[in-house]
Amino acid sequence: MSPFVGGMQFAIEACTKYSQDRVQFGKPINSFQAIQHKLADLKIIQEAAKMTVYRVAHDKDSGKPLNHMHTSIAKAIVGDWGMKAASDAVQIFGGYGYIHEYPIERFLRDAKLGQIGGGTSEMQRFIISRILSYF
Ligand SMILES: Cc1cc2nc3c(=O)[nH]c(=O)nc-3n(C[C@H](O)[C@H](O)[C@H](O)COP(=O)(O)OP(=O)(O)OC[C@H]3O[C@@H](n4cnc5c(N)ncnc54)[C@H](O)[C@@H]3O)c2cc1C
Repeated sequence: MSPFVGGMQFAIEACTKYSQDRVQFGKPINSFQAIQHKLADLKIIQEAAKMTVYRVAHDKDSGKPLNHMHTSIAKAIVGDWGMKAASDAVQIFGGYGYIHEYPIERFLRDAKLGQIGGGTSEMQRFIISRILSYF
């Protein structure tokens, strides 16, 4: 899960710089509130993903038994919120976000794996709801 959190850091840095450099209507696009909110959402999602992943990693390092609820929550946040972050990142880049010449389209494809690999988002919800039902 941590590579996805690292990917979000890359996206935050790339989007921050691009939105400072890209000028539309005579202003850098990061002066527009719609872009500012997307940047803020990227940071919010990355912090939430980081905290939940760290919780699982900390428990593992401490020798505690795997907490399936915590693990599935972390995986679901990294996967599903990570996809929102990736989609917003592409949106900030506009058309340049879509083409291969800029690295951000790769981020979108990589983020999608977070919803599929190592247990799909559907399976994480299955695990979470099953634990909720049993306890
Ligand atoms: C780049 C990449 C790297 C990978 N690396 C590895 C690896 O190193 N090791 C490894 O073991 N696997 C690896 N995988 C495989 C990955 O774990 C599987 O693709 C993933 O578990 C989903 O399985 P599937 O593709 O068979 O999809 P399916 O099981 O066919 O699922 C298709 C869709 O149906 C949903 N679905 C299936 N069953 C249910 C259900 N009961 N209830 C609700 N929804 C359901 C799924 O959530 C998904 O949305 C990798 C995949 C990719 C793309």
